Amino acid sequence: MGSWDELCILCGASPEGGPHDLLHSGDIDEYARQLADEIDPYNDDLFDTIRNALKCSIPQKTLLSRAEWLPDGMAHPQYCSDVCVALGYFGKEEGTVPRDRDGIPDGRNVQVRRVIDSSSGDFERVLQETVVGNENVSADGGSAEEDEVLGEESFVASGRKLDLYSMCAVAHESPNIWLHERCYQYMQSWIDWQSLPRPTALSSSEEELSFAGELYEIANSRKQTRDRDTTLLPCIDYDGIEATLEQWQDHFAPARRGTKYLARALHEGLQGKDLIPALLKDFRAWMFMRPDVWPKPLEAIDTTATTVFTTFPINSISAIPLIDTLPNELLLLILRELPLPSLLALSSTCRSLRALITEPSFMDCVLKEAILRGSLKWILPVSSFKNEVQGCCTSLRLWLSVVSGSCQSDGDLIDSNVNALLVSPQFPRLTFVRACWESDSMMNRKRLWGLVKQFEAVWGSYRLHGWEVDRFYPSAEILDTLQIVE
Ligand SMILES: [Zn+2]
Repeated sequence: MGSWDELCILCGASPEGGPHDLLHSGDIDEYARQLADEIDPYNDDLFDTIRNALKCSIPQKTLLSRAEWLPDGMAHPQYCSDVCVALGYFGKEEGTVPRDRDGIPDGRNVQVRRVIDSSSGDFERVLQETVVGNENVSADGGSAEEDEVLGEESFVASGRKLDLYSMCAVAHESPNIWLHERCYQYMQSWIDWQSLPRPTALSSSEEELSFAGELYEIANSRKQTRDRDTTLLPCIDYDGIEATLEQWQDHFAPARRGTKYLARALHEGLQGKDLIPALLKDFRAWMFMRPDVWPKPLEAIDTTATTVFTTFPINSISAIPLIDTLPNELLLLILRELPLPSLLALSSTCRSLRALITEPSFMDCVLKEAILRGSLKWILPVSSFKNEVQGCCTSLRLWLSVVSGSCQSDGDLIDSNVNALLVSPQFPRLTFVRACWESDSMMNRKRLWGLVKQFEAVWGSYRLHGWEVDRFYPSAEILDTLQIVE
C-alpha cells in the first residue's frame, strides 16, 4: 500500500499534525448528500449548496499548496515542530528491535531519540539520543518541576542530523512508540507523579524504570496492544480523532459529529466558501489546532464585568458565604476540581448554590483556585517550554492591561510571572476563561490534558498491578546489538 500515516500515541495526530483538506474531492457528492439529508431531506436545493461549499474547499493548485481557508495553527508546518520523540530499541540493523527470540525486550534499557523525517510510522533521521536512564521519574522525591528540568536537559539539540532509521511502525509490529516532542513533554509534566503508587517490582532488578521505559511497557503490556488500524492504544478514548486516519490522515471530514454549525450557517444564508468555517466546526477540526496559543482580549472588553471583579475584592476564603454544613475551605476544594460545565450545572440545582456560585467574587475565587490547583490547571503553560511561558505571559499581560490601566505600571507587568499575573486582583478571570472556551487552541489543550489524565490512570494501574500480559524478555540480552547515537 505504498506509504501511510501513523498517529501520535497521545494526541492522535500524524507527525505533520494531521489533516489539511476537508475531504477527498471524490467524496464530495457522498458527503453533500449525507449532510443535506441530515439537515433537511425535503429541501432539494440544499444538496447543491453544500456540494458547492465542499468544492470550494479543494485547493486549486498543487497537492502541496496550503488551502487559504485553513486556520492559522493547523496542519504542517504550524501544528508543531517537525521533531518527534521515539522510544524503544533501535538495533544496528536498520533501527529495528532485534527479533532473535520470542517476545520483545522489557523497558529497562529503552532508548529515547529525538527524530525527524517521518515515513509510515518510522523516522529517517536522528537529532539526538538521550543517555539511557537519564530521566528517571521515580517516586522518591522527584517533584514534577525537577522532572521537567531533567526532561529539558536531556533534550539539548546537538544540531547534527544523522541519517539513521528509527523504526516505530505499528504496521510492522514494532513495539517502539513515538510522540510529538510537545506531547512527550506534556505527558511528563502533566501526570501527577506524587499521586501515583510506587512501581511494583516487575523484575529482579532493583532499579526503577525511566519515564520512557514505563511508557514503553505500558503501551506493550496491555491485553489489547496498539490497534493495527488506528495505530493507537485501545485503552485510551481518543474521542473519534482516529476516524480521520484513512490511509493517510489528510481529511477532517471523518471526525464529523452532527451538522449543527452547518445548519445554522445555511439558515443565515451563507454560501460557498463562507460555509467552510461551519464545516470545520462540525468536522471537529479544533482537535488539530496547535494547543499553545493563549487567547487575546478583544478590544471591546466589557468594563462593567471587569468592574464587578475590582469592586468585590476577595479578602480571604472565609469571606465566602456558608452553604449548608460544608466548611468554606472544603467547598472551595471540591468546586475547584469540578470541570467548568459541571460547576455551572451545579449552580442550576438550587437557589442557594445559584446565589453562591454566580456571586462574582466567589466565582472568581473558584476560578483562581481551579487554574492554579484544580480542574483548569491545563490553562497554565508547561514550565519547561520557554515559548509557552512567554506566549502565555504575553497574553495574560494583554488581558491585565485592558482592565487595569492605571492600576499597575508596565514595569510591574513585565516583571510578573504567569502565576502572579493570574492571581492579580484586577485580572479578568471570568472573561479570560470564557475566551479560553472559545479558543480552538485552548480546547485542544484541554483535550490533551484529558488524554494525559487517562494515561495517568493507566499508569497507576500498571504501577499497582504490573503487566496485563507478559510479552517481555530481559532487554539486557540485546544491549550489544543496539545502535547508540553518541
Ligand atoms: Zn502528539
